[in-house]
Formats: sequence, C-alpha cells, structure tokens
Amino acid sequence: MFDFGAQQIEYLKGVGPAKAEVLKAEAGIHTYWDLLNYFPFRYVEKGHFIKIGQIRDDKNSVALKGKIVSVTEKGFGRNKRLVALFKDDTGSMELTWFSGIRWISQKLRPDVHVTVFGKPSIFNHRLSLNHPEIEVIDPAKPVNEEGLGIQPLYPSTENMKNRGLTTKVMANITQNLCRQAYKSIPEILPRSITNRYRLLSREEAYRHIHHPASLAFAEAARQRLKFEELLILQLKILRQKLHVSKTRGLVFDKVGDHFLYFFNNNLAFELTDAQKRVIKEIRGDTRTGFQMNRLLQGDVGSGKTIVALMCMLLAVDNGFQACLMAPTEILARQHFASLSKMLAKMNVRMGLLTGSSTKKDRDILLNLLGDGQMHLLVGTHAVLEDAVRFKNLGLVVIDEQHRFGVAQRARLWEKGRIPPHVLVMTATPIPRTLGMTLYGDLEVSVIDELPPSRKPVKTLHLTDKDRLKLFAFLRQEIAKGRQAYIVYPLIQESENLDLKDLMDGYESISRAFPMPEYQLSIVHGKMKSEAKEFEMQRFKSGKTQIMVATTVIEVGVDVPNASVMVIENSERFGLAQLHQLRGRVGRGAEQSYCILMSSDNLSGDAKERIGTMVATNDGFKIAEADLKLRGPGDLQGTRQSGLLALKLADIVQDENIVRAARYTATEILQEDPGLTLPEHQGLAREMEKDGKEKNIWAKIS
Ligand code: ADP
Ligand code: MG
Repeated sequence: MFDFGAQQIEYLKGVGPAKAEVLKAEAGIHTYWDLLNYFPFRYVEKGHFIKIGQIRDDKNSVALKGKIVSVTEKGFGRNKRLVALFKDDTGSMELTWFSGIRWISQKLRPDVHVTVFGKPSIFNHRLSLNHPEIEVIDPAKPVNEEGLGIQPLYPSTENMKNRGLTTKVMANITQNLCRQAYKSIPEILPRSITNRYRLLSREEAYRHIHHPASLAFAEAARQRLKFEELLILQLKILRQKLHVSKTRGLVFDKVGDHFLYFFNNNLAFELTDAQKRVIKEIRGDTRTGFQMNRLLQGDVGSGKTIVALMCMLLAVDNGFQACLMAPTEILARQHFASLSKMLAKMNVRMGLLTGSSTKKDRDILLNLLGDGQMHLLVGTHAVLEDAVRFKNLGLVVIDEQHRFGVAQRARLWEKGRIPPHVLVMTATPIPRTLGMTLYGDLEVSVIDELPPSRKPVKTLHLTDKDRLKLFAFLRQEIAKGRQAYIVYPLIQESENLDLKDLMDGYESISRAFPMPEYQLSIVHGKMKSEAKEFEMQRFKSGKTQIMVATTVIEVGVDVPNASVMVIENSERFGLAQLHQLRGRVGRGAEQSYCILMSSDNLSGDAKERIGTMVATNDGFKIAEADLKLRGPGDLQGTRQSGLLALKLADIVQDENIVRAARYTATEILQEDPGLTLPEHQGLAREMEKDGKEKNIWAKIS
C-alpha cells in the first residue's frame, strides 16, 4: 500500500534538499507525516491589534503594532538580556529577551516597525513583554491585508529562521502538504466515539489545525487531536496495567513471627488508620499470586517508613528478602539507623550498601545476600549494581521515588526470576489527572492523615532587612532546647557560586551564634560522605543546634527535635522543594516554624510560590499550585520518565479531555481487550507506531 505520510520531506513542493536538511536537523521532520504533526503553537488573527494604552492585565496575550526606539544589552552572565524600548502612539514599554539575543539584535534596529505578540507582565506599575514573538513589518502595507485572515505561528529555531524557514514559510509548506494530504489521512476513531464527543474527522482536524477557517475551527481541531493523543496514551497505560496485573507474583500468604513480634513489642506508637489501611492493601496484593505494583503516596511526615518496614517484615515472614532503596546516602544511612533501632531484639539481619561501603564490607554483605542469610538490604543506587544478587528477593521498596530514573527501577525488577513486588513511595502528591497518566498503570495507596498530636508548621515570609529579628527568634528557640536548619539553594550549573553563598552565610551565622555557647554543623554536596555523616550525627544527637546546609537534606531527613527551618533565597526554590524542606520540621510534638527568606524584589511567580507556602500546609494543594505554575513537564520525575512527551495535550489544562480519554479507553478495552474488532484497527495500528520506545517505560512501574 502506498504510504503517503512516509514520503521524504525533500520531495514536498517548496522544500527541496537544502531546507529538508534543516528540517531534519532542527525539528526532527523527516517525512510528510512528521510535518503534518508539527503543529502551530498559536494563531494570530490579523487585525486584532490593540494599543499599549489598552493593556489592562497580565492575563491575556496581546498583539501590538509599533516602532522600536532603542535596543540595549544589559547585565552579565545569568542576567544578560536584550532590552528593546517599543512604542506606539499611546505609550511605550520594554521588550526583553534572555536567550536568542544575537538573532534578535540583528533584526531589531531603532526605528524599524514591528508587530509584537506576547503576554505582558506588570511590575512596579511598569509594563513589559518577556520573550515576545516579533516580526519586522513594512509600515506602508497595512498588516491585516497580508495573507490569510488567521496566521498559524510555528515554533522555529534560530537556524531554521536563518535558512529561510520562518513561520510564514512553514505555513506555506504545510498548506501545500495539507492540499495533497486530502484523503490520505484515514479516520482511526470508531464512529460512535467521534459522534459522542462531536469530534472533527481526522482529516479535517489536520487541515484546520494548520490552516483554520476560524479560531473556533482551530480549537475544534486541537480538541480532536488532543483527544486522539490522550486516548492512545491511556489505551497503552491500561493495557500495561492489565498485563502487569496478570504477571505471576510471589505469594506472601502468612503473617508470621517477625511481623507480629514487631507489632506487639517494638511499635512505639499506635498506627494511624491510614497506615493500617495501606498495610492491609499491600497484604491483599501480595497474597494473590500476581505481582504487586503499588504507589504509596503520603505527605511528608505521614509515616511511610514504618509502613515500608512492616511490609518488609511480611516478606521475611514468608521466607523472602526485601530491599529498601533511597535516593541519597544521607537518607539511606538514616533509614538504616532508624530501622536498626526499630528492629531491636529481633532476629532480622539487615545490611547497608552505599557508594562508600568499603570493599571488605561489601564482599561480606554480598555473600550474606547471596546465600539468604541477610534478610533486609537498605541502600542507595549501589543496590542496583549487577554484583548485588539476592537469594530470593520478594519485595522492593523505593523511597522518594521522584529521584529515581525509570531505567533504574527496571534494573531492580530484573533481580529475581519471578519479579519481586514493588512498592514505590512518594511524598510529592500528584494531582489526579497527572496521576492517571503518570502512574496510570500502578495501584495507588494514600496515607491521607498525619500522626496525631502534630501541630501544623507555621510559615512566615521575611526579607533580608528582618535578619536581626530572625536571629533573635532562633536564639529564643534554641534557648528552649530546639534545633534549627538554615538551608541554601544549590543549583547544579552554578555550584561554585552557590557554595560561596553557603560559606558566606555560614560565616555570618557563626558570628551571630558564637562558640562555645552555640555549636554549628554544616553539610553540603562537596563534602566526603563520612564528614557529612559525622555532621548529621552531631546534629541528630543534639550536640549542635544549627544545621547549615544545602538541599542535600531536602529529602526524608528525620530529626524530630528540629523545629525551625530557615530557607535562604527561598525565591529560588520550586514549590515541591520548599514543601519537602518544610517537612523536615514539625515532626515532634513542639510548635515548628518555617521561615522563608527572600529579597524584597520578587517576580510574580516567586511571590505566588511563597504566598502558597505561607497559606497552606496541604501537600496536595501545593502540588496543584506547582503544576499550574510550572506545567507537568517540569514536575520532578515527569521529565526523566519521558512519559509526558505529548505533542499537543497538556495534562493540566486538558483535564477534561484526560478524563474523557481515560473513560473511553476503559470502555474500549472492556469490550475488546485485544483490540481485534474492525473498528479498533486504526487505533491498534497507531499504538504500535511509536510503541517501541515506550515499552522500556512500560515494563517497569
Ligand atoms: P515520611 O512519610 O515523610 O517518610 P516518616 O516515615 O519519616 O515520614 O515519619 C515521620 C515521623 O513520624 C517519624 O519520626 C516516625 O517515627 C513518626 N511516626 C510515624 N508514624 C507514626 C504514628 N502512627 N504515630 C506517631 N508517630 C509516627
Ligand atoms: Mg520518608
């Protein structure tokens, strides 16, 4: 059969070999089909320009026409930017670019006439546009008479523009293609579904997404193609779930001596109802003879560790080994220490394996694991190495899952002939629609209550001028016997600069809190792990009152007596990170505080993040706010999973479509699990198309 979409792009009218090379290299467009799927990111309705003086808010994008007054480069290093002053007959405003500066500055000269599109920001009553799309125009020609009524804007790189592949040229070649493609884009959705949701046909959708007859058509086209994209994704996820739920698994059919001894003698507190429920759910799963794949979601401090431990004891009771993997060495050591304490007087052998275990210790440990004498292993990524072999691994627990890449999880999977049960724990609550997609093939348990007697952490926002107040407050808390963290951001690209921030901070804190009255600890990523461990222990045992640290302490660290968390430069942290850090305090019965320090001068987003932190302790609300502010691609864990490489749909904005797609996929698979009915052939083919790379992910979760 002749495959229209598979034709090479150079044969398309208006492309040719030279442009084809650029399209391949810059945009991954090799075939007709690739180009059809290279969508405009916006449409401009020509003639809908407004005046600078008419801009009312920073919510809506605007189209403006005017003149460049001046162009200046400002700032250095990270702050380097290009600022153009732009005016029309009602006022002026600044246009700012932080990247692509060279290309823009070549185009923009004082006095050129331009059209500008973008989302305004308003700061100190001044208007500006960051990274607007800009086009130089001929003022003699009225703009709204050129070309089509609605112009699609295509993403294009500097190289593409330099080689003549501007958004206009892209529009022309896609138009050529759409004319030829007529009748070559067969429908893949069953009629009943296009009818139910009133979707455009597939061919219409491709035509109108590139060259819409009106903005309403453009929207309808996007809806249709988003639905298709999400439906295929959900079909894959649900099929995977069906498959996993039929994977043979180990059977934990009894509750034995270890579990019961621990429950009766070593459990220092009453489990919360939520913890009990989750343990029951896991018991249920591990009894069935199918493999468990479960996500345990619980806010910071909700007590996930104890749940993990009790499930590991269940494994031991049934003659299996279990492994707990943590994302950092500090956390692995901490788990090892606290689990060792909890296992007091019990006949359970546990080992610790990290990157800094000595060869001798390692060899002993590997032997004990190999012949089954060691029951539990706690460790970092080191447990993934090939040399680590278990006699009979029954359960794998992955703590703070978002730090682990997908490939790493897959390797644990391979450590048993019958795959072990997998429990993934995360403190980052995931909004439901994202969960449906990201973890759609996992069963989900939620710990939705905190242990009793916890007082919610009080969160305050202070700026640099309040520093004396801050120090006075810290002295007062320390005098009550409490301890405090002071945390500095550490962002990898600028590690040295940040380390300097940390060291400067440490010095000024040492001056404000002099020895011998005060003892300070410091921990950062560049330290040797023994040194880190030594400092953590001093802090944990109460020998030091203040822990000055970078975000190495972000995840999981548990020092119940610490009741103040100070976060320096808090405007530089993301919401999820701030929430994690705040979770380090409020673990004992004392009132705890989180103090967010920042400069006075905050961007709108930073203000919103800090405001959210001050307003709520609810991790779920924070996750939703985070998702809104950053989009799902930026959420921890989603990027490395590659799962959300969606072309059109957006898991947050398109919540309703996600739900409809989920519902439809469930319905289709119920009727036709193998997708063998004639009306499902199109979908089945489409699922196979890009199935190859997705399979890697699909095997693990
Ligand atoms: P997270 O879910 O953030 O990993 P942890 O497992 O570290 O939380 O638990 C936080 C603290 O709460 C620990 O000190 C733990 O001993 C304590 N804890 C856990 N469950 C309970 C409970 N049911 N009652 C009281 N304290 C608990
Ligand atoms: Mg934890």
